[in-house]
Amino acid sequence: MKHLIDAKELSPEYVERLIASAEDIISAPGSYSDRCRGRILATLFYEPSTRTRLSFESAMLGLGGQTLGFSSADSSSASKGESVADTIRMVSCYADICAMRHPKEGSALVASMHSGIPVINAGDGGHQHPTQTLTDLMTIHSVKKKLDGLSVGLCGDLRFGRTVHSLIHALSKHKNNSFILVSPDELKIPDYLREEMIKGGVRFTETEDLKQSIKEMDVIYMTRVQKERFFNEEDYVRLKDSYILNRQKLSQAKKDLAVMHPLPRVNEISTEVDDDPRSVYFDQARYGRFVRMALILDLLS
Ligand code: ASP
Repeated sequence: MKHLIDAKELSPEYVERLIASAEDIISAPGSYSDRCRGRILATLFYEPSTRTRLSFESAMLGLGGQTLGFSSADSSSASKGESVADTIRMVSCYADICAMRHPKEGSALVASMHSGIPVINAGDGGHQHPTQTLTDLMTIHSVKKKLDGLSVGLCGDLRFGRTVHSLIHALSKHKNNSFILVSPDELKIPDYLREEMIKGGVRFTETEDLKQSIKEMDVIYMTRVQKERFFNEEDYVRLKDSYILNRQKLSQAKKDLAVMHPLPRVNEISTEVDDDPRSVYFDQARYGRFVRMALILDLLS
């Protein structure tokens, strides 16, 4: 049985195939509208979500399938103390595939070990978010026409930002990419990831200076400081506005920079940047539906 748990599973060939499939769906949606007739997607969301859950549901509906699920832990038996392992055993009887978001790192992996249906990790704590990476890669591919040879800046909460960890894993598999990691000291990438990057020969630099480093970037990926992962409010308040990308900072950047953000944004990108032709964060949200359609089709095949 196929699952998608970790962005390390996203080989360049697999990504290329999913993007091609998503592009085909965009160009001829009608020919896909019956492909999942009679199939059910369960969305098990123990943590808040807007884009991921709705785009998964919209993806399944667009394929002619149906959806069921819950959108908070309170409305599931988790509130009674049921384990993920037991829940997924039940859900395997009611659905053909599931997308799961959970605050605990590793929970999607645990679910996949007890599941009778494909499990898609829709975010496990501060660890991974591989389907966000698929939509990120599709966006980069659409503007840069390639996924290699890029200088990619990641800025903000690199410690808890799961989309950052997944994107680094996936882009590291493509040739000649390098990373500029911009964050305050307390929000640097986790040690395990830094060690993996060094071991894998991935080129990267770490800095606190966005103003200078933005000049070198082909892509900038801004991220929200992940309030829900902080132990105390004070630290969050102190760090939350560490970086705000505005028109003035962008004036120093390359003319063909791609400005990305997994959303939701709080203050990380000033709204005055929304009209800049380099801003592609709403495209990321749009592609999410199609690339998830491609993924569902692949995992159910
Ligand atoms: N939506 C993304 C996530 O679920 C990014 C974020 O919440 O900041 O990880």
